[in-house]
Amino acid sequence: MALWASLVWGVPVAPTPFEKSEFMVLPDSRDIRQYLVALADGHEQARLVPLGDSAGGRPIDALLVSSSPAFLQAQRPEPGKATVMVLAAQHGNEPAGAEAVQQLARELLSGEHDGLLARLNLVLVAMANPDGRDLSRRHNANDDNTNIDYVALAAGETRLLVNALHRFDPDLVYDSHESGIWKRQLTREQGWLTDVETQFEVGNNPNIDDPLRDYTEHHLLPALIRRVTLEGLEAAPYRGEITRLGQGVARGGLGITNLRNYAALQGRVSVLIESRLDHKAGSYATPRNIAERVRKQHLALLTLLRLTADEASRLVPLTRRARTGWRSQAENGRTLWMDMRFERNPEQPELWLPLVRMTDGERRFHAFINQNRIMAGEPVTLPPAYAVTRERERMARWLHHHHIRFSTLSAPQVVRAERLLIEALLPPIERRTGVREKWRVQVASQAGSVRLGPGDLLVPMDQPLAPLAALMLDPRSVNALYQEAGWSWLAPGDFPVFPVWPTAPDVRK
Ligand SMILES: [Zn+2]
Repeated sequence: MALWASLVWGVPVAPTPFEKSEFMVLPDSRDIRQYLVALADGHEQARLVPLGDSAGGRPIDALLVSSSPAFLQAQRPEPGKATVMVLAAQHGNEPAGAEAVQQLARELLSGEHDGLLARLNLVLVAMANPDGRDLSRRHNANDDNTNIDYVALAAGETRLLVNALHRFDPDLVYDSHESGIWKRQLTREQGWLTDVETQFEVGNNPNIDDPLRDYTEHHLLPALIRRVTLEGLEAAPYRGEITRLGQGVARGGLGITNLRNYAALQGRVSVLIESRLDHKAGSYATPRNIAERVRKQHLALLTLLRLTADEASRLVPLTRRARTGWRSQAENGRTLWMDMRFERNPEQPELWLPLVRMTDGERRFHAFINQNRIMAGEPVTLPPAYAVTRERERMARWLHHHHIRFSTLSAPQVVRAERLLIEALLPPIERRTGVREKWRVQVASQAGSVRLGPGDLLVPMDQPLAPLAALMLDPRSVNALYQEAGWSWLAPGDFPVFPVWPTAPDVRK
């Protein structure tokens, strides 16, 4: 046990279940939970907060770790100190992040890592998907992929994670994944493996608060990649999944159905890691090289935390201002791009990326079409409010799940409106397996007046979540709710959700 005892405070902290197995066995969700409970029970600097249960009835918790009693008590952001929320293993078959989080919690509670605990407040969700963990699969027990559920909020897990975002109000959200190097077409048919140690992406939707996006993209992301590389682990910007030679590569998707862009649209710094998930066929010191995979996740997470602590004086005011006063990039600062996609970058039409040949392990660079240029349509000015006139109770529940403020009309009201007429609905340009493509919607808009009835909803755009709400509500948006399963409202004709200019009193709650 002496190995695990703290050198600083002399407080021994028990090894994680994975460490106890000498890195040979991945513990199940019960063992992990027991460990988290023991950490919280045994340390004044830790507290376990239940978030709810998974579809399969397994508890999901946040372990708060901080040297600040006020944070552990109130669970709210503190001045000058960044709150970092880590979500590990949303995909159950990418487990290394969950082990890295437990290990890091143990080290911090035993006084390691140079007072980092005094500089950060941590919200550690070691198991975002305990069903997937126990069933060794990507999705939860209901077969929901929570990773792309942040618009629809169909799965209970996604809803409780969204509640946690509001409850703890983190300045930075870190979403931990692993990425397999073996791909059906690229490897089996074409003979190449991807060659990646760690890749990082940040919130990249063009509608993210402009100063926050600029800082995250041009300062924090390059600094993180540089530091992780200096620590001895190869790091690169995320190019999206490579499944075949010669395909287009860009970066992480622009959509807001994933946690990365969803959290960033709320005004948070948002970072995704994809680290290497080695192939079954290799020979390793531990099963499927799990010890090494956890080491990479641990190094990356610790580096990110150190960087965040060093950046706090810049990062914290930027994100907190973004959460209260969003500013868009375009024109008057209150405009949104509803339509956006990647296109080939004429300034750098190709990217050369390394692949490893299956037969002899030789590493070679290959040319890929570089589609990392973001093309956006005309910006749309945010209206004072959106009216919702269909399935209003269901919509009210959905808005509530997103913590979006709205009011319900108690009496009829004639309002100035921008009526949205769907003229045509075009199928996706390209269908790719495993990727849900969006319908392309041709919308004409016409100014006029509309009579709203009792029970209709008004969603005001003077709230911090306005850009997120508009991108999900407006049928012109590529991320509209109606692109999601179970919300098939898109059809030619007048659309039941549209911008309005109501008389003032009804906009308030
Ligand atoms: Zn994943």
